[in-house]
Amino acid sequence: MNQSDQRTPAPTQTTEETSAMCPHNPPCPAAQESDREHARVIGRDYLLGWTLLCNGTIVFDTGSLLPDGQVIAPHRPVLAGVAA
Ligand SMILES: [Zn+2]
Repeated sequence: MNQSDQRTPAPTQTTEETSAMCPHNPPCPAAQESDREHARVIGRDYLLGWTLLCNGTIVFDTGSLLPDGQVIAPHRPVLAGVAA
């Protein structure tokens, strides 16, 4: 028996600091991107009607609030293939 000392090195993640908040891989879209609402939900209050996304965006029924204080007007996603 030939025992070779092949120890795999510990996985070192060379994660680039894209977002201080987002631990996900692939990283969630940033709050400044148009697809910001596709970030993962990390907090939600059904009673008060808000959802906190991973990128720091807070989504209300009446719009969204970005981490920098910018307000996004409410909008509904466009559903493809829906007949009028
Ligand atoms: Zn994330």
